[in-house]
Amino acid sequence: MTTRSPYSMLSVEDALDITLAQAHTPAPVHRPLSDVRGAILAADIAAREPLPPFPASTMDGYAVIAADGPGDYPQIGEVSAGALAAFTVKPGTVAYITTGAPLPEGADAVVMIEETERLDAAADTPRIRINQQSKTGANVRQVGVDVEVGQTVLAAGERLDPAEIGLLATAGIIDVPVFPRPKVAVLSTGDELIEPGESLGPGQIRDSNRAMLLAAIRAVGGEPVDLGISGDTQEALELRVHRGLTQADILLTSGGVSMGDLDLVKPLLEHAGTVHYGRVRMKPGKPVTFATADVERGRRLVFGLPGNPVSSLVTFYLFVVPALRKMAGWQDPHLRQVKARLAQPLPLDAYRPEYHRATLTWDADQACFLAASTGIQASSRLLSMRTANALLALPQREGTMAAGELVDALLIGDL
Ligand code: AMP
Ligand code: MG
Repeated sequence: MTTRSPYSMLSVEDALDITLAQAHTPAPVHRPLSDVRGAILAADIAAREPLPPFPASTMDGYAVIAADGPGDYPQIGEVSAGALAAFTVKPGTVAYITTGAPLPEGADAVVMIEETERLDAAADTPRIRINQQSKTGANVRQVGVDVEVGQTVLAAGERLDPAEIGLLATAGIIDVPVFPRPKVAVLSTGDELIEPGESLGPGQIRDSNRAMLLAAIRAVGGEPVDLGISGDTQEALELRVHRGLTQADILLTSGGVSMGDLDLVKPLLEHAGTVHYGRVRMKPGKPVTFATADVERGRRLVFGLPGNPVSSLVTFYLFVVPALRKMAGWQDPHLRQVKARLAQPLPLDAYRPEYHRATLTWDADQACFLAASTGIQASSRLLSMRTANALLALPQREGTMAAGELVDALLIGDL
């Protein structure tokens, strides 16, 4: 007699649609400027003042009246960044000025220092030789040239990376309206697992998934919560799953979703909530399981990731990352995708689409991305994810794909 899974096999696309339909963006919060890197902005930001707020010199040099032209002139004063000149530049005079300083009254241009000579530096009023004919406005940033007052400098939905954070600082927004970072709890399951710092006893292996997933969560903008390792008993598992559901928006378990007697995660999730799928047509990662559970403070998403480290990480990228992004307010939560040319022939799987780990590099001669396989693709072999920055979506069919053929590559790291 064969044992069959009670779960029907979904396509990756359908499973992802089901997942995203359950992922909701919560109400925005306010967070300090120093804590919003990577978050999605929840409101438009308009400039309350122009930038620069005063006409500012773009050079170290001399503030002049352009119409005066080249010649020798007395320097009537100095103005540096952060101060206002207490004098007016009158026709036939110049003033020393530094980059970023407000243009003194009367002056209408700046001649850079390289186009001038200081004639009698020791004198109380040095004389300056201006060698260049300048034009009105030369080397001056007029009020509002960089940012106009009232201009929308950032729009709701934009991701806050360094430039955007600089703009927030410019606009004086220190309490930033953003969507909160989803909290993601990680639980490893398995009697064979020990902590990375422990030495191996008979039958044991170190828990690689938890350290890996906690790092991955941080890298994609989630806030990780470490739930440790659970042995393969119903009680131990239940206790920690319950803790995860109370402490986090998303719970990830790894292991315990295949078909063995000690694969307790699926029945437990059936009991705790609703299992939306328990099998997906993909390689690796077929037993990936997705459930929702309603607790006091809202609906939680639960992913039962497979135990094999590669399956765990691949399913994390394919399902958890888009869900997390949607909850974090991303307008398009999907993994970014490019076309790449295979650097070598790859065998295909007749029964399941494969997510082949590869390193993409830009091929300047062919002007395309080149995808180099990371080698043997066993789902237990985490070395097959080392240096991988893409998952190649290989079609389900007999045979091989030839070197040079174009494939869809889902980006999981920097190019
Ligand atoms: P399971 O789905 O629990 O049967 O696990 C499948 C395979 O993944 C087994 O070989 C486990 O020993 C291994 N495995 C499960 N969890 C982890 C983990 N956290 N770290 C490393 N290997 C794991
Ligand atoms: Mg197990």
